[in-house]
Amino acid sequence: MVREVRTTVAIIGAGPAGLTLANLLQQRGTDCVVLDKFSRKQILERARAGLLENRTVELLDRLGLSARLHAEAAVHHGCEFRVDGESFFADYSKMYDGKPHFVYPQQEVVADLLDGFESSGGTVYYETQAAKVLQVADQPRVECTDGTVVHAEIVAGADGQYGAARASMPWDDIDEYVMQHEFRWLTLLAEAPPSSDCTVYAQHPNGFAGHLLRSSTVTRFHLQVPFDDTVEDWPDERIWSELRTRLAKPGWTLNEGPIFSKNMLEMQSKVCDPMQHGRLFLLGDAAHIITPSGGKGMNLAMADAAELDLALARFAASGDENDLAAYSAHRIPDIWKAQEFSHALLHMMHTYEPGSPDAAFRQKLQRSRLWQLRHSAAYARNFAESYIGPPLGWPYSVDAYAKAPATP
Ligand SMILES: Cc1cc2nc3c(=O)[nH]c(=O)nc-3n(C[C@H](O)[C@H](O)[C@H](O)COP(=O)(O)OP(=O)(O)OC[C@H]3O[C@@H](n4cnc5c(N)ncnc54)[C@H](O)[C@@H]3O)c2cc1C
Repeated sequence: MVREVRTTVAIIGAGPAGLTLANLLQQRGTDCVVLDKFSRKQILERARAGLLENRTVELLDRLGLSARLHAEAAVHHGCEFRVDGESFFADYSKMYDGKPHFVYPQQEVVADLLDGFESSGGTVYYETQAAKVLQVADQPRVECTDGTVVHAEIVAGADGQYGAARASMPWDDIDEYVMQHEFRWLTLLAEAPPSSDCTVYAQHPNGFAGHLLRSSTVTRFHLQVPFDDTVEDWPDERIWSELRTRLAKPGWTLNEGPIFSKNMLEMQSKVCDPMQHGRLFLLGDAAHIITPSGGKGMNLAMADAAELDLALARFAASGDENDLAAYSAHRIPDIWKAQEFSHALLHMMHTYEPGSPDAAFRQKLQRSRLWQLRHSAAYARNFAESYIGPPLGWPYSVDAYAKAPATP
């Protein structure tokens, strides 16, 4: 089908980044459309993240799209660490001005954003896959595999790490920082009520195990597994036995139930800098990938959208190219802060290969981090700020967001 669409901002990708931007622009009165390669049903079925930073919820409050979240999300004030048969509770809210953390599945965030955008007249072109973004004399256009062409003043590439926006960037002019991690997770969703009322991180000689709430009936688990293992190496009984062993604590019982999702997760981190070229801007996973440790990916994606919305509004008012360039420059410090935190948490909780030459030394560093988290108020506050997330717009646009009234 050949279809010509004209708009101010073409947004590729109806994930958390693209839909947050769409709602912000729509509420500002800026014309935009969203394209996604999947159907509405497929988009709403994609279960991934679940930890929402405080600033992410404030952003949804401001958009007026958080009523269901506040009714249904679990509010968390701390997490538990289990190491060497001992356990301690990191009371991160207490350490960071009382701010909480929320557990609300990514697909519900996406549903609320999609409903908000469409019910206010926004257009999403479903099953419309972008093939490439072309920029000719500041006039970008998105060409799609079905013949659709979207002409826009700005293209926001929020189509993930394998999308067309990223592939259309001139990589000779952009730096990319990549790290392949030595750990691998078997990540699971089980129809089992949570066994604790908070996230539990366990470090055991067999490897890391994580217990994360998703809803009153569903729990996500992560298990560190050898690098060459496949899903077939992990039948359900082996998984439950390993979770019981690694998460063990006197008097505590693991709730078990049918496992309905089981995936191997290799971990890679990436940041591209700058996250923009000409009139093409990358957001979310299209611009950076972070390990799932600490649950930052969706939060960064939505913070990118908030910053891009601000940059576009400033540019519309001033016509000054520096206001556009500020998008990437303003986002990079926050993205590296999250990368540093995710990396530190990953190494705080994983078991190193016993044969590796520096395994014993690294394990000692790990114990020092855990010790400091427990006994140093300064270390714990920094941990809490990173875990809960810094304020929206940190470090450059905090005032701009603080002044905007939140939707009651
Ligand atoms: C197992 C797991 C657990 C995670 N846990 C957490 C967590 O607890 N907290 C957290 O914050 N993050 C977590 N993350 C990361 C988080 O899910 C991602 O960072 C987040 O989805 C990024 O949002 P996005 O909008 O950038 O991209 P996506 O959510 O990937 O959305 C991109 C959209 O673009 C569409 N698209 C792709 N290519 C094209 C194309 N060519 N044309 C048109 N459309 C296209 C896709 O269909 C998709 O809808 C987790 C990830 C995984 C895998």
